[in-house]
Amino acid sequence: MQVKHQFSLKELNTFGIGVFATAYCAAETEADVLEAIGQTSLPVFVLGGGSNILFTEDIQAFVLHNKITGIEIVEESDSDIIIKAGGGEVWHSFVLWCIDKDYGGIENLSLIPGTVGAAPVQNIGAYGVELKDVFHSLEAIDLLTGNTLTFSKEACKFGYRDSIFKHEWKGRLIISRVYFQLTKKNHKLHSSYAALKSELDKQHITDPGILDISRAVIAVRQSKLPDPKTLGNAGSFFKNPEISRELFLKIQEKYPSIPHYPAAEGLVKIPAGWLIEQRGWKGRRKGNCGSYEQQALVLVNYNDATGKEILQLATEIIEDVYDHFGVKLSPEVNIM
Ligand SMILES: Cc1cc2nc3c(=O)[nH]c(=O)nc-3n(C[C@H](O)[C@H](O)[C@H](O)COP(=O)(O)OP(=O)(O)OC[C@H]3O[C@@H](n4cnc5c(N)ncnc54)[C@H](O)[C@@H]3O)c2cc1C
Repeated sequence: MQVKHQFSLKELNTFGIGVFATAYCAAETEADVLEAIGQTSLPVFVLGGGSNILFTEDIQAFVLHNKITGIEIVEESDSDIIIKAGGGEVWHSFVLWCIDKDYGGIENLSLIPGTVGAAPVQNIGAYGVELKDVFHSLEAIDLLTGNTLTFSKEACKFGYRDSIFKHEWKGRLIISRVYFQLTKKNHKLHSSYAALKSELDKQHITDPGILDISRAVIAVRQSKLPDPKTLGNAGSFFKNPEISRELFLKIQEKYPSIPHYPAAEGLVKIPAGWLIEQRGWKGRRKGNCGSYEQQALVLVNYNDATGKEILQLATEIIEDVYDHFGVKLSPEVNIM
């Protein structure tokens, strides 16, 4: 395990922001994690694929890059299987591994960038499925004590792009292994999401299997989202806000076609992208960054923008949407 100092993170975040970490090392095993935390007095920051982070300044921390790999079958019955995956496994490769073995449940989460270990942090979700739907439990190492802890599904307190790892345990753990419960037969398919359904229709697939769903999801994602390898971004920059029915009705009076979905506790969820687009931000460029021309919710780094520039753009969008609609957008991306 080699520790590097003043290490550039530019290639390790999908926004492509050029900041430096005071110290950095890649941990390939749990033993590496313990060795790393035992030798530094700096705060430890866990990095996965860097696809949900906006770095706004150099990181005065020991960056621990999760490279813990391994995929293992833990338990299986005729119908179900429990699989353990290392937190440093690339998420999409893990999804493809499962599809190849005909294990169902995560096909709708195809092509989401990042690592297995980060997936529970924001309860990743796409096309009608969330991580919590297939999650069994996880193992994590407490970065302060070195103890290994186990979290059941209930203990994770999953919510919309949310979990206990963004609150009580924020910054305290490295998620080292995740256990998934998947189906071996009678897969429960989720193909009703509008964009997915129309892609399947386009391909004349009437009775899809998990591979068809995965391929359709990949096709939709590739047509809508910028590839971070060519245009720096971190996917959706903002969460879809959940607002009171009263505020929703007020907005609907002026904008009768506002898209909306029921949310928990009588709230109404509205697409942040729609709000941003209504205010004319879609495709608008400010200096080196902007809102993506095909999806207003995605902020992109056109040309070596700094994290501060992107944060400034995000702040202007938040203020503008709030002034006009009275809706406060909150970032989905972790701002550092
Ligand atoms: C083009 C694009 C599309 C995207 N689409 C989606 C989507 O459809 N749905 C969705 O939910 N997300 C999406 N995202 C966001 C992102 O891919 C996910 O949030 C992903 O889970 C982040 O994984 P990561 O390994 O890159 O995490 P990082 O960005 O490295 O880290 C994110 C946060 O998690 C913490 N963290 C990372 N690994 C661990 C660990 N092992 N233990 C503890 N804490 C950890 C970090 O400290 C940081 O706070 C998209 C991003 C991009 C660039």
